[in-house]
Amino acid sequence: MSVLSSPASPTTSPNLGSASGLTCRECGARYPLAPEYACTECFGPLEVSYDFGAVTRESIEAGPTNIWRYRDLLPVPSTVADIPNLEPGWTPLVRAHNLGRELGLRALWVKDDSANPTHSFKDRVVGVALAAAREFGFTTLACPSTGNLANAVAAAAARAGIRSVVLVPADLEQQKIVMTGVYGGTLVAVEGTYDDVNRVASELAGDHEDWAFVNVNVRPYYAEGSKTLGYEVAEQLGWRLPEQVVIPVASGSQLTKVDKAFRELGSLGLVEPTAYRIFGAQATGCSPVSAAFKAGQDVVAPVRPSTIAKSLAIGNPADGPYVLDTCRRTGGLVEDVTDEEIVEGIRLLARTEGIFAETAGGVTVAVLRKLLEAGQLDPDADTVVFNTGDGLKTIDAVAPVVGPAATIPASAAAFTAAGLA
Ligand SMILES: *Cc1c(COP(=O)(O)O)cnc(C)c1O
Ligand SMILES: [Zn+2]
Repeated sequence: MSVLSSPASPTTSPNLGSASGLTCRECGARYPLAPEYACTECFGPLEVSYDFGAVTRESIEAGPTNIWRYRDLLPVPSTVADIPNLEPGWTPLVRAHNLGRELGLRALWVKDDSANPTHSFKDRVVGVALAAAREFGFTTLACPSTGNLANAVAAAAARAGIRSVVLVPADLEQQKIVMTGVYGGTLVAVEGTYDDVNRVASELAGDHEDWAFVNVNVRPYYAEGSKTLGYEVAEQLGWRLPEQVVIPVASGSQLTKVDKAFRELGSLGLVEPTAYRIFGAQATGCSPVSAAFKAGQDVVAPVRPSTIAKSLAIGNPADGPYVLDTCRRTGGLVEDVTDEEIVEGIRLLARTEGIFAETAGGVTVAVLRKLLEAGQLDPDADTVVFNTGDGLKTIDAVAPVVGPAATIPASAAAFTAAGLA
């Protein structure tokens, strides 16, 4: 493997805290820390390994109220909290009494990641990718994106004062295009699906070795950012693990990293290593992992996406097989819901908890409901459902079905006459 593809001098070893190297998830081959993502032996994906020092609840609690409180558990320098960044994370874990009551769940929480700086969970992964990329000497942050990642990369690069290059499918929601373009980087719309955009980005990553494609050449570091969702849920529950979690699946990275976070917390003695079940949620219009789960397969057959849940519309999910492993190992499963159910899920969460989710949140809430109705979730177990994005980014999904009860002339009499009192 070529460390020379890094613009940093190959003789300087990057300062990435307790990260000790990269390990192939398939064959276990070990590599030094570098901007590489595939094993040269077997082409398996590389994952960051650590040599954790002493990390205590107190040392974490003394940190900032953002993802950098967990910096000792991430592939970032220990000084990262002091560098200009968007300070993502530490989003609310909302005790959802109303939604729980309506669904017949004894104890339900919503992890509301719409509260991040660019209103999706992607600020977490981009924050870690940028911190690592900086250590490797990169000066351009790039990505292929289904939308939220584009927002997060463009904003983080602006804040860090570096260039961004973002590629998105041309049919993306207008909100996400505007919310990327406003930050002033290079934004390119590609005619095709996300999987086409991803292929173009992979080719460009080969040609531009001085660009950090957050989810391509620095993907092992980027992916670790999702662990912070798991850490936060456990800390916000009072340093314990939930019993059931429902997580959306696009590439599948987030779901596998929440599991990694729960296991790390247990083995570091920061929580009791109690049992938990992880449930994956997909849109039926892009459900390759759910289909593989139901068919009892270990491999995921690619699909061509067609769903309103565009942030989850990855037809060829890189971490699909690991999602299958994780859900099977923990006793969970993967389920999918139709676009109609997604819209109902968005409205249900908004109506019961005052949280306006994007379509991905509609997917998890609808899957939560479907699994409960099918008896596949324990109604007495402590349950967390993830809302990973903001409904303002996917207005079109609900605009046709919500609106004014009436349009009236400007008088109180007209209000009374409309029968709304
Ligand atoms: C990217 C994204 C996800 C899931 O990401 P993975 O690729 O599975 O890690 C979930 N929700 C939203 C809103 C996203 O933008
Ligand atoms: Zn390998």
